[in-house]
Amino acid sequence: MTSITKRWLRGSLLTTFLVVTAAVSIYIYTSYTSYYGEVQQAILSRISSMEGQLKITTGQNAIQTSQKRSQLLQRMVEQFDEKDKFEFMLLDGAGRPITASSGALIHYESTPQDFLEALESNSGTAKSVYTSATGERVMAVTVLVPYAAEEITALRMVTSLTLVDQTLIQRTFLALVVGLAVLLVSVWSGVFFIRSIVKPLGQVEQTATEIARGNLEVRLPQVHNSDEIGRLCNTINQMAEELSKTDRLQNEFISSVSHELRTPLTSIRGWVETIAQIRDPEDENYRKGLSIIGRETDRLYEMVEELLSFSRLQSGVKLECCPLDLVAELTDAALFMEARIHKEGLHLVYEEPDLPLPIWADPSRLRQVFINVLDNAIKYSRPGGAITLDLLQDGESVYVLIKDQGRGIAPDDLENVKLKFFKGKGAVRGSGIGLAVVDEIMTALDGSVDITSEQGYGTTVTLRLPLYHPAIKSC
Ligand code: ADP
Repeated sequence: MTSITKRWLRGSLLTTFLVVTAAVSIYIYTSYTSYYGEVQQAILSRISSMEGQLKITTGQNAIQTSQKRSQLLQRMVEQFDEKDKFEFMLLDGAGRPITASSGALIHYESTPQDFLEALESNSGTAKSVYTSATGERVMAVTVLVPYAAEEITALRMVTSLTLVDQTLIQRTFLALVVGLAVLLVSVWSGVFFIRSIVKPLGQVEQTATEIARGNLEVRLPQVHNSDEIGRLCNTINQMAEELSKTDRLQNEFISSVSHELRTPLTSIRGWVETIAQIRDPEDENYRKGLSIIGRETDRLYEMVEELLSFSRLQSGVKLECCPLDLVAELTDAALFMEARIHKEGLHLVYEEPDLPLPIWADPSRLRQVFINVLDNAIKYSRPGGAITLDLLQDGESVYVLIKDQGRGIAPDDLENVKLKFFKGKGAVRGSGIGLAVVDEIMTALDGSVDITSEQGYGTTVTLRLPLYHPAIKSC
């Protein structure tokens, strides 16, 4: 049995069982006390009406009164009209019947309990429930009447409890059936409820274990419930989806980085071998080889730098921010990239605004953002195209727009370009982390990156940063 089922059995079911048992017991007990109370009340009301008649009977003197009362009592017993329901009798001082309404004098083996108790009690009244000699359950009530007549000590009335007991047995049976039905319904609904939790949870556990073992293709069956279990299953599926996407991208990244590193290394190795055979340093190939080795080494260096900075960002390197002028920072990056832009046959369109735009940022990270975006604009532009830089201020935000007239990004790639290791269709050199780095830095600077693109017409990258208010101090 699973532990949730055990906990439910111990907690909920045990509580329900105790509550139902208590309710049924209370119901049965109150039924018995109220029914027996009613029977006792019926006997007492009859006895008290007789007592009433007895008390108002008076004579000239005490002996006369006693005689009259004695006669009256005898008459009352003889003429008692509910003989079928009650047996009415007069008892002497020893509790023995003197007269009985049934006519037959019952001989008690021992003094009736209720008579003895009535003698003891202050009210002179007592009740007892017992099984008669005929095997019938009866209730007897004795009331002492010391004022009646010498030999008559008490009035006693006995009635059968057979009908009352039948009704009580029926009620007890009904209460037990209802109690049992409530318990069964709560067990059934509980088992149904527990199953609806335990079964999917078992599947979730199995799937999560499979994922933990590295099987990222496993999925939970699609759940359409919007309850907690449904949401948990969908979240696990989403998590598995994301993990397998990251895994795939990571593998692609390793192969693309290896490829990117191998290309310049192959070139360097080839030129080293060529140079090793040339004796004359003035040889044209000697110088050409050295220049290519230098250029390829720079490329390798840049690539390793990019990877290192990405890995530093991933491990949460702190930004060293200070107040800056965004205009000056962008101009600086544009000047740095200008030579490359021209070399690739492109031209730069940039009108530096006159007024500064204060921001709070880390200068080297911001430069990295501009260079990564400009590098993409150069890589994906056709010769003759323009790269345009714009600066805008709108309310509390400042914007840098970097537009190119290159090949653009396919719509289904657009939503993924900011993911780490993602390379779009027909991507040229690169490891797929440039825009992921841009996105992380901009988010850390409380800014954002927005990319729009039209295939065949170009791409616009919009970088947003919050405007900084205090006076600018250069850092
Ligand atoms: P990388 O570091 O390899 O350049 P990025 O993260 O910078 O990777 O870019 C991811 C992908 O987005 C690129 O492989 C490319 O397909 C696409 N991309 C980014 N910028 C542009 C652009 N200006 N024009 C066309 N495609 C672009």
